[in-house]
Amino acid sequence: AEGAVLIDGKAIANTIHQEIAQEVTYLWNNYGRVPSLAVVIVGDRKDSQTYVRMKRKACTEVGMKSISVDLPADASEETILDHVMELNADPEVIGVLVQLPLPKHVNEERVLNAISIEKDVDGFHPLNIGKLCMKGREPLFVPCTPKGCIELLIRMGIPLKGKRAVVVGRSNIVGMPVAMLLNKLDASVSIVHSNTADPKSIVKEADIIIAAAGQAQMVKGDWIKRGAAVIDVGTNYIPDSTKKSGHRLVGDVDFAEAKKVAGYITPVPGGVGPMTIAMLLKNTLEGAKRVFLQPENAVNA
Ligand code: NAP
Repeated sequence: AEGAVLIDGKAIANTIHQEIAQEVTYLWNNYGRVPSLAVVIVGDRKDSQTYVRMKRKACTEVGMKSISVDLPADASEETILDHVMELNADPEVIGVLVQLPLPKHVNEERVLNAISIEKDVDGFHPLNIGKLCMKGREPLFVPCTPKGCIELLIRMGIPLKGKRAVVVGRSNIVGMPVAMLLNKLDASVSIVHSNTADPKSIVKEADIIIAAAGQAQMVKGDWIKRGAAVIDVGTNYIPDSTKKSGHRLVGDVDFAEAKKVAGYITPVPGGVGPMTIAMLLKNTLEGAKRVFLQPENAVNA
């Protein structure tokens, strides 16, 4: 057969949601508690509101409790910090997530630093990121989109150990943590960024390609080694006059070309996208287990 195996992120995410729902039921039956996730949003950015709505909905769909903190765009940094502190201190709250980006007048680093590392379900606290980078240390939480990329590779049975991987992009939220995760899993990792000379020659060597540059269709078919696994994180809108909206969503990979040479490939949409929320729920579940399974919290276990 011609062409890459399609990695169906939507189907895999659905399976994970079902697995999580079962575990939530188990926790309720044995520990009498439901994991709760607090999502803080500041301001009224349309895209952020959509993401937050999706996160809250997914949370309740798997039987977790969603706690909403909605603050106005002009909320002061101190007000935001007060809310984070209150959620940190609330024993009922398992996960605390502050939707990014924050308004310009707020110091994002200060807010992320304030989230308790035990409740840092987005995995963006510098202590969790630091442990992700260190040999022999384990973060309490791993960022959701990077974790989703790895989960896709693992569930497709794609080996990582000893393989050559390339990550295109090195942002704090995607490129850098996914490179660190691949390194932890014993792949040999190259990072391509905006100053890299001849990115094609580096990408071409890779058995595993993670594209997270935010550059529409940047990775061409002839950049890809035959049989490589391609995970496309990019979400870019390009003009398309055949669409009613006038635009269309594409990844960082030229999908039509790439699927002819790759061994595995994620579509955009329907690849990495759905995995991000699945991994947020998984992080919240893992956090809840750490808390609930402490012996003093058992009711009838
Ligand atoms: P970002 O913060 O803009 O970072 C982009 C990275 O790509 C930077 O490290 C940049 O290099 C590098 N880069 C930019 N142009 C490049 C080029 N021409 N060649 C090589 N490297 C280049 O973006 P991000 O937040 O990581 O997101 C990346 C993409 O993933 C975006 O399309 C975003 O929408 C998407 N995304 C999707 C999900 C999801 O599906 N759930 C989640 C998050 C992000 P420098 O460091 O040198 O500037």
